[in-house]
Amino acid sequence: MSMRIAMFGGSFDPPHLGHLIFAEHACDALALDRVLFVPAAHSPFKSSTQPDNLEHRLAMVRFALAGNDRFSLDLTEIERGGTSYTVDTVQTLHALYPDAILHVLMGQDAFEEFEQWKNPETIVACATLGVGRRPGFPRIERKHLFADHAVFFDSPLIDVSSSAIRRLVSQRQSVRYLVPDAVLQYIEQHGIYQNATGAT
Ligand code: ATP
Repeated sequence: MSMRIAMFGGSFDPPHLGHLIFAEHACDALALDRVLFVPAAHSPFKSSTQPDNLEHRLAMVRFALAGNDRFSLDLTEIERGGTSYTVDTVQTLHALYPDAILHVLMGQDAFEEFEQWKNPETIVACATLGVGRRPGFPRIERKHLFADHAVFFDSPLIDVSSSAIRRLVSQRQSVRYLVPDAVLQYIEQHGIYQNATGAT
């Protein structure tokens, strides 16, 4: 039987419980064998993700994924460098796992912008979109140009974002329980996000 693999791209700056709960529920809803967390080198949509926090982002993703056999870190976009386009990554994964059934996971917020991504038609030719709900973003299943290429699934709505976490840390407020304990320790030990603006 073919392996069912999903890529889950993001800045993961930092990874938080919203990402993890979302990916865990995607596994059940889409019968996935594996979720590849793919940190972007440079997101096309986020100007502030600089390569100088790359080491921190990777370390935190490693801590966040530890202990979950279905989750793994994938360095395709980091190794490729430059602006990270999902279409390039999906094609790399398709070549690497020719027999696998590929999915691209994203929250409803990302799906809303999907038409503006680079070469969306090529992405859906290689993979099914796995779209989960995100607080504040209504379902838009029917009207969406790519709805026929998406599987929509429900997971607990976790109202947390990386930008909110960076903002809380910079305001000296607690992010305990919003990120895994090991990620919290890492943030504290390395003093990251102390001066974050909270902007994306
Ligand atoms: P930022 O606040 O910096 O924009 P983010 O929290 O949205 O970051 P990303 O790493 O940019 O995190 O997101 C990667 C993917 O994770 C996107 O597809 C996004 O929709 C999804 N995602 C992020 N947070 C959640 C959440 N709380 N619930 C469901 N999906 C989420």
